[in-house]
Amino acid sequence: MFTQELESIYYKKPQLNEIIPFYELSPQIELFLNEEVRLGARNLNPYRFSLRFAHEPKDVINLFVAFSSENGPLMRLYRCECIDCEQMLILNDEELKEFKCYNCGSTGNLELKDFLDNVKVIFEIKEKYIKDVKARLKEQASSDASKKNTKSEEAIKGEVSLKDVFDLNAVGSDNELLEIEKSVMHKITFGLTSI
Ligand SMILES: [Zn+2]
Repeated sequence: MFTQELESIYYKKPQLNEIIPFYELSPQIELFLNEEVRLGARNLNPYRFSLRFAHEPKDVINLFVAFSSENGPLMRLYRCECIDCEQMLILNDEELKEFKCYNCGSTGNLELKDFLDNVKVIFEIKEKYIKDVKARLKEQASSDASKKNTKSEEAIKGEVSLKDVFDLNAVGSDNELLEIEKSVMHKITFGLTSI
């Protein structure tokens, strides 16, 4: 289950307890996951979570980065629009490192001054957890059909950019991310100097 996966990540990275302790986070994220999946979400937005439970956005982003590393229950994806053909690109870690539009082959985005702000980071819930939650919600719905759904707040406070994530990872909490950062920063610098 989702929170058990998180517990094992906390176990491996005990410093996460200094960000938000597991006993506090665990019931909150479980509730949030249920609410979001019920609303049809396929990913978790750190800003929504921080708004819902009054946490610092940077703390939540930090945690989500940890939850989406290696075998975590979340998967990090990166989204941006190709400046040449306007294709909406959804990239994984490896594809981000080798940034290139898969429609037209352009690497033009790397030459944008605000490339890092431009790329949004999505924390996708892995399919098996979505199925898990849906199955549980179904059980609940049949046992307390009379209960009214409390809708989670609609306000979405924007999206997380690659810049936010790189800035917060400056302390080096996630090695995978550091490697991506190195590779991307190298490409950006290369893009700028090769004009
Ligand atoms: Zn393109």
